[in-house]
Amino acid sequence: MSSRDFVYRKFSDFYSDPATVIPSPSSLGQREIGFLLFKERIMLRHKIFASIDDLKLFLSEEVPSDVYRSCAYYENPAAEMDKKGWLGADLVFDIDADHIPTSCNKLHDEWTCKKCGFADKGEPPKQCSKCGGQKFDTKTWVCEQCLGSAKEETTKLIDILQNDFGFSNKEIHVFFSGHRGYHVHVETEAVKSLDTMDRKEIVDYVTGLGLSISKRERKQASKFFLSDFAWNKRIKQGMSKFISDTTIDDLKNIGLKSAISNIIFTKKELILRKCIGEGLWESVPGVSVGTWRKLSEYVKELESSKIDTVVTTDTHRLIRMNGTLHGKTGLKKVEFPLGSLDDFDPFKKAVAFKEGTVKLYVSDVPEFRLGENVFGPFERETVVLPTAAAVLLICKGRAEVAK
Ligand SMILES: [Zn+2]
Ligand SMILES: [Zn+2]
Repeated sequence: MSSRDFVYRKFSDFYSDPATVIPSPSSLGQREIGFLLFKERIMLRHKIFASIDDLKLFLSEEVPSDVYRSCAYYENPAAEMDKKGWLGADLVFDIDADHIPTSCNKLHDEWTCKKCGFADKGEPPKQCSKCGGQKFDTKTWVCEQCLGSAKEETTKLIDILQNDFGFSNKEIHVFFSGHRGYHVHVETEAVKSLDTMDRKEIVDYVTGLGLSISKRERKQASKFFLSDFAWNKRIKQGMSKFISDTTIDDLKNIGLKSAISNIIFTKKELILRKCIGEGLWESVPGVSVGTWRKLSEYVKELESSKIDTVVTTDTHRLIRMNGTLHGKTGLKKVEFPLGSLDDFDPFKKAVAFKEGTVKLYVSDVPEFRLGENVFGPFERETVVLPTAAAVLLICKGRAEVAK
C-alpha cells in the first residue's frame, strides 16, 4: 500500500467511525463549507449542509484531507462569492508558529533551493546564497517549543480580548489548529457586522501597531507618563516584569548605553517602587524620558500578540472546522475551555488515531512526543510506530510506509 493510500484509508476510517464527533458550528446552514480533496488536491468550495450529520456523511464518502467553514454568515452560502448575501462574520484570530520568531526552526526546519538544490537548516532566505534562486522546497516540523511560543501569544491575545475589549469567556472560543498553532474565535452579535477596516483596527490594537507612548498635552511633553488603562497598563505591567528579571546585557541588547544600563540594573528596586509603582518616572537621575520611551517600545513588542493579521481582516475567510483532521499532521482541530489553556497538551488532546502500529521507513525526524510517548530521533531507518505517529510522519513528508 502506498503511503498516500494509507493516510487516505486512516482519514476514511476516522470519518466513518460512529464514535467520531464533529461539533457543529453555530448557524451551520448560513456557513459556506469547503474541502481539500486528497486525490485531486483540489479545493471544493461553496458547499452547504443542512445538518452536521449530512456533513459527516459527506466526509465519510469523499474523505477530504482538510475541511473548512466560513467565519461569515450568508443568506445563500452556496452562491458565488458576490451573490452570497453577507450577513456578518465572527471575529477570528490565527496564531501560527510560522509568524513567531523561534530558535527551534534552525533545528528542525529545512529548505532546498529549487534551482540549484542547495539546502540548509532554518527558514528559507529571500535569495539562495549559491545561485540567487528565489523558490524553495521547505520541510517544517512542529515541536514543543513552537507550540509553547504559539500558546504564549494566544495567552496574550485572550488577555487583551477579555480585559481591553471586554469579551466574556462565553464569547471567546479557543482551539488547537491541528498543526502549528491556535485559533481564537469571538462569536457575538457585537462583532458580526464589523467590516475589514474595523477588523484592521482591532488587529492594530492587538499587535500594538501605531501605538504612541506617552503623548500628553504639549506642556507635559517632556514628562514620561503611563496611565492605568489598556495598553498603558499593559506596558506598565510588562515593564515591571522585565525590570525585575533583567540583566545588564538584556538592557544593552535593546540599545541602551552601558552607563544607563548600569543605572537601571542597580536601581531596580527604586524603579519598581517609585517609577512604576507611584508614577514618579523622574525619580532616577540619569534615566531620561527617551530611555523610558525606548524601554516602553521594547516592552510593547513583548506584550503584543503575534497574530496572522490577514486572517482577522478577511471577512469571507474559510477556517478549519473544529473536530476535523489536519492534512499536514493527521491531528484534530480541537476546542478546549479558556481556563485550561495553560495546561492544554496538543500532543495528547489532538491525537485522532489511537490503535494499531505501522512499519515505516523514516528519512529523518527530530525527537518528538505524542501522548505519553517520546519517539526518535530517526534517520534513514525502518521502525514500527503507533498509527498516530506514523500518520504524522507521512503527512509531514518524513516517512513512507515500509514494504
Ligand atoms: Zn540555489
Ligand atoms: Zn519548534
